[in-house]
Amino acid sequence: MLAESNVMKKHTAPVDEEKPMKMEQVSNTCFAVLNEKNRVCDANSGLINVGGGMVIDTQSDLPHARQMIEMFGKVWSGMPERVVNTHEDSDHVFGNQLFQGAEIIGHRSLPERMKTVAEPTELQHMMQAAADPVTGPQLKAMHPGLSAAANQLSEDYDFSGVELIPPTTLFDDRLEVTLDDVEVHILHVGPCHEVGDAIVWMPKERVLFAGDVLFRLCTPMGWVGTFEKWFETLDMITNELKPDVIVPGHGPVCGLEGVTEMKAYLQYVRNESRHFFDNGVAASEAARRIDLGPYADWLCPERIYMNIERAYREFRGEPFDQPWEQEKTFDEIYGVALARGIVPTF
Ligand SMILES: [Zn+2]
Repeated sequence: MLAESNVMKKHTAPVDEEKPMKMEQVSNTCFAVLNEKNRVCDANSGLINVGGGMVIDTQSDLPHARQMIEMFGKVWSGMPERVVNTHEDSDHVFGNQLFQGAEIIGHRSLPERMKTVAEPTELQHMMQAAADPVTGPQLKAMHPGLSAAANQLSEDYDFSGVELIPPTTLFDDRLEVTLDDVEVHILHVGPCHEVGDAIVWMPKERVLFAGDVLFRLCTPMGWVGTFEKWFETLDMITNELKPDVIVPGHGPVCGLEGVTEMKAYLQYVRNESRHFFDNGVAASEAARRIDLGPYADWLCPERIYMNIERAYREFRGEPFDQPWEQEKTFDEIYGVALARGIVPTF
């Protein structure tokens, strides 16, 4: 009953009214819808408003996707003909089904990867288990971090009704699309944050939709990829593309300073991790002890656990695509927050 009444409530008020989604125009033809709360799942979407329209990333659930459509709808003449998924994570693909008839574009790895990391029934079951009066307390006792993450998600999200809709136009290295006379380059740059990482580059307007290769003012969550590939991509953006405006996957619109800071963060975490690793300190302990320096003010600093653990995996010579155990990951992040005396935020 509890779960049901939650669902009812969320349909009417899916978004935190104090920090709502907002639309921002970033160039002549480009717009962004930004999730200002900026916690996990609060991803951004983009719109290239020319040549039939192209939407970049489709939000984490249907209420947010509908709100994004409503916001972009103020400037477009009709539903866009193309959608790009910048990678396989649920917060970038769960609104795909609302774009019926659109060409959905993504890296070749996405259809398979989405089955692994963006299967809606898994999230739906997790949310039900956390909200249930019997299984909720059990989950909290066994996996306090996962339980806290589910409770946080239930404040903003309702995953019911989401269906897995993978892209059907698949590309390997790059895909170039011309919208009227506007060139759009979709470039595969992964694995940095995920296997299918792609960025959407508009060379004339110098606008970049970076997907989760860029988190801005919030702690990045690196899932499947390598530090080296991530550095290479950030360097390519800085030295070759040189965008004027960047819409990150998470966080506010920025310029190249966002890329510079992101690279500095990743370098710092990897260097410090090496030091802890060489001294036999476990990743979870290193996440409790590392000096957060200037990054303490980034949202969800406790997510640093994931970046340290990923560095450790590399130091141990483990494969970059070794799967994450969701329960353990969120429990560790939760533990880091408590040890640091901060309110756990995911
Ligand atoms: Zn994301």
